Parts: sequence; C-alpha cells; structure tokens
Amino acid sequence: MKYALVTGASRGLGRAIAIRLAKDGFYVIVNYNHSEEAARQVLEAIEQSGGCGELMRFDVSDAAAVEAAVEAWEAAHPEEYISVLVNNAGIRQDNILVFMTDEQWHSVLNTTLDGFFYLTRRLVKNMMTHRNGRIVNVSSVSGLKGMPGQCNYSAAKAGIIGASKALAQEVAKRKVTVNVVAPGFIETDMTQDIPLDEIKRVVPLGRIGKPEEVASLVSFLASDESAYITGEVISINGGIG
Ligand code: NAP
Repeated sequence: MKYALVTGASRGLGRAIAIRLAKDGFYVIVNYNHSEEAARQVLEAIEQSGGCGELMRFDVSDAAAVEAAVEAWEAAHPEEYISVLVNNAGIRQDNILVFMTDEQWHSVLNTTLDGFFYLTRRLVKNMMTHRNGRIVNVSSVSGLKGMPGQCNYSAAKAGIIGASKALAQEVAKRKVTVNVVAPGFIETDMTQDIPLDEIKRVVPLGRIGKPEEVASLVSFLASDESAYITGEVISINGGIG
C-alpha cells in the first residue's frame, strides 16, 4: 500500500485530489482543519469507489499540531511511510496593500508557507530514507504574475515556488521529486465571491477550470511516470498565463 497525504482535502481542489489519488490506488490521508463533516464525506466518497483512507485533522500552520498528528500516524503505522505529499491547503484574505491588516498578511503567509515548511520537513526525511517520494505544492497564477488586491496571497504563492525549486535540488539525489501546480480560476468555495462569468470571457479557453482537471495533473506528478520531472511549475489556467 502506498500512502498519500493531501492537506486541505475537505473541500475544493484538495477534495478532488484526494478522491483521484484514491482511484489511482493510494491509501489517502485526508487532512482538514474546520470542515469535519465535509472531510467525512470525502472519505465516504473514497470508500464508495473502492478506495481507502483516513481523516487527519490539523491546522497546517500550527507546528505542534502537525508534529502531533504525524507522530500519532507513524506510531500507528510503524512499517509504513507517506510517499506522496500534496501541500494544497490555502486561504485568501484579499485587500489592497495600503489597507491590508497584519492579520490578513500573516494568516495567508502562515497557511501557505509555514504549512509547507512544517509538514514537508517532517515527511521528506522518510521519503529520502526510502529513496522514493513525490511532493506536489499548489501555487497559483497569482504567484507567477501577481494579482492586485492579493499582495499577501501572491507573496505566499511565489514563495512556495522558490521553496519548491530549492528543495527539489536538495532531495533529487534521493529520488524525491518536488513540483508545483499553478492553477488559474477554478470553481471552488474559494472563488465563490469572484464574478466567474465575467472572468471566463478573458480566459482564452472560454471557461473556468474544474477541480478534477487540477487533480488529474497532480495525479500525474504523484505517479511513477513523472520520475524525471522536478523543480517545475506547471500552469493549469485555460491560457491566461
Ligand atoms: P477552498 O475551496 O477554500 O478549500 C480550502 C481548503 O483548505 C479546505 O479544505 C480547508 O479546510 C483547507 N485549509 C485552509 N486552511 C487550512 C489550515 N490552516 N490547515 C488545514 N487545512 C486548511 O479552496 P480551493 O479553491 O480548493 O484551494 C485549494 C488550493 O488551491 C489553495 O492553496 C488555493 O490557494 C489554491 N488555488 C485555488 C484556485 C482556485 O481558483 N480555486 C486557484 C489557484 C490556486 P477546512 O475547511 O477543513 O478548514
């Protein structure tokens, strides 16, 4: 059995990624923070389609919570290790910079960057020991070109790209790959307050993306077939890059 952990898997992209990885044959650890009922439904969907997995609640930006959750999992699975990590959990707290509060700045950076750091540092060690691992980090078109009203989010999503490229070089010799997916506008709770009908007019492919399309890309990057790809950022945005 191969184990994959997906952060922020209770809703949106993480949900679709968890369900897809389970279909690919992974035992999927479904991380969530607040949405327990939604996370349960993800696990049910996995089990109904013949897959298996478990729930793991922690706030990715809380170092002690990450440590406690991973330690408990390892104690319960002494012979196993997590070979696929998808750092997907993320939040938006938009505001133009002149009005941005400390809380808006730090909450967004902490969720994306501290979340990546605490969990990846903890899990990459075992991947290196086993000389096998896939880390996929979810950035955004905002991290590549910046978006007005999103200095915090753009900084976090650009930061995750730099960190991924550095880590990719640190762990390549141990056959661990680190890649980034950078979605454009995808229909989830996060984009509920965005006028998607107007936005799709400026998307060359003429529509908003689906979570399952991002999940399909992550599935490839988590698979054995992607073994020669590392340190890359792959955009999935209908052509708005
Ligand atoms: P979403 O629908 O708002 O879902 C966010 C998920 O992240 C939820 O499952 C939430 O869990 C989890 N989460 C948030 N903070 C967390 C924390 N501190 N610890 C653990 N889990 C946490 O968002 P989404 O659209 O699926 O976005 C997923 C990722 O894709 C994010 O990194 C986002 O920035 C990125 N992205 C999205 C789009 C888009 O258009 N949707 C575009 C580019 C990039 P709980 O509800 O359980 O707290």
